[in-house]
Amino acid sequence: MRIAIIGGGISGLSAAFYLEQERAQGAPVQATLFESSSRLGGVMFSDRIGDCVVEGGPDSFLTEKPWASQLCAELGIAGDLIGSNDEQRITYIVVKGRLVPMPDGLMFMVPTKLLPTAMTPLFSWGTKLRMLGELMHPPQPVHKDETVAQMVERHFGSEVVDRLADPLLSGVYGGDAASLSVRAVLPRFVEMEEKYGSLCRAMLASRKKLAEMQAAQGYKPKPLFTSLRGGMQQLIDAVVARLDPQSLRIGCPVSSLTRSGQGWELTTGRGVECFDAVIFATPARIASKMLSGIDSQLAADLGGVEYSSSVTVTLGYLREQLKGCPPGFGFLVPRSEGTRMLATTFVHTKFPFRAPDNKALLRCFLGGARDQGVLQLSDEEITAIVRKEIRQITGLAAEPWFVKVYRWERAMAQYTPGHLERIERIGAIVKQMQNLAIAGNFYKGIGVPDCVRTGKEAAQQMAALARAEQTAGKA
Ligand SMILES: Cc1cc2nc3c(=O)[nH]c(=O)nc-3n(C[C@H](O)[C@H](O)[C@H](O)COP(=O)(O)OP(=O)(O)OC[C@H]3O[C@@H](n4cnc5c(N)ncnc54)[C@H](O)[C@@H]3O)c2cc1C
Repeated sequence: MRIAIIGGGISGLSAAFYLEQERAQGAPVQATLFESSSRLGGVMFSDRIGDCVVEGGPDSFLTEKPWASQLCAELGIAGDLIGSNDEQRITYIVVKGRLVPMPDGLMFMVPTKLLPTAMTPLFSWGTKLRMLGELMHPPQPVHKDETVAQMVERHFGSEVVDRLADPLLSGVYGGDAASLSVRAVLPRFVEMEEKYGSLCRAMLASRKKLAEMQAAQGYKPKPLFTSLRGGMQQLIDAVVARLDPQSLRIGCPVSSLTRSGQGWELTTGRGVECFDAVIFATPARIASKMLSGIDSQLAADLGGVEYSSSVTVTLGYLREQLKGCPPGFGFLVPRSEGTRMLATTFVHTKFPFRAPDNKALLRCFLGGARDQGVLQLSDEEITAIVRKEIRQITGLAAEPWFVKVYRWERAMAQYTPGHLERIERIGAIVKQMQNLAIAGNFYKGIGVPDCVRTGKEAAQQMAALARAEQTAGKA
């Protein structure tokens, strides 16, 4: 079975790798991957600048989600996996221009420790009293989807939306709490509200249960984030090294897709090719355009997925220039602070192998759902904004020895209310078609591990189909 994979980011490359694994195990599959740009990896890209590793896109992935680490193990690069330096993990929130550390016991915006919550200047006394009152929140079924902001506001008030929910979500989704679906991005919150009512009580209960389970199993805590010694690019390079170069069409955008008998006809600048099956691993809007003549409902649902754009800026300093900066992983900036910068990571503290002992790297995030205009600015304008805002927040005025700006246009899928229903409809139509599969960051999670999972599942779906057709042919 000839399979076309459209899109060469981590989702498409995972599909290609797992199809190659299936082929090696006897599945009658042969994959060709089409990538429109001049390089593979999509938004995953690492630079080497001097003796530093600089990430343009993702810098790591969540350790608790297994698919990316599993892929690294299957690629033989597990020995190069590195964990975040969690013993140095302090994250600050900027409040009225000052860096305030997130209080101990805060579990994804839900407080679980009384004293640190009572003492922190992060919340006003009104919010602290509200948090105490939240313990009495009665359980209630959540019938309709709502935004994260709506749910967090119901429980803790608007200050927690502004100072925690919004900055945390803009870091992960490049979106804002007022437009992201709580069911899609924080399904655990919905379950907790249904069972316990109070999110604080639910978190306390789940923390206790987890601690008991971990103690019984002699569990050793794992770092929160995992990356690769050579940068995330190492994952891309390792996958590409396992693929047949003849199967890769780089700089080759697919412009259209039509039905051809039981299969598909795919058009690129290099001509028309026929395939038995297709895996889409592009942003949803690209798949929508190509499928509009094939299934209007599928095209409409895919076309309805919104995307936000972002800019990352890395600044290289000498470590001694950062003497006035606090320790920790970095800071998040609530929208109410009026800056364009959304967050800054102290890369040299967060991960080993990113900068030598005498160097430091600050990585800043801009853009997101509320500031798409930042992409229209020149690199010089963006650098000037970032340097001014870093100076205002940390006092750091020193000249960096390099600055690098990366732009990611409409790269982050937005899981808005109704997203899960939309994905369910897409899944049902695709399942019916059989020789079409979907992967990508709009499908089952925005992060790298979920993208790997979608690529792997698409490959498994196609390999199962190829095996079934082979068996039917022999019968
Ligand atoms: C700045 C930034 C920071 C992030 N940080 C993290 C992080 O720290 N941890 C984490 O887990 N996740 C992070 N993410 C999210 C994660 O990196 C992405 O969701 C994931 O890498 C997306 O992979 P993908 O393959 O689905 O899409 P993409 O990487 O967008 O790849 C899609 C590919 O399709 C190609 N394409 C488009 N149209 C066509 C066509 N017509 N023909 C052929 N090819 C086409 C594109 O050129 C592109 O290469 C971050 C994302 C960004 C942008």
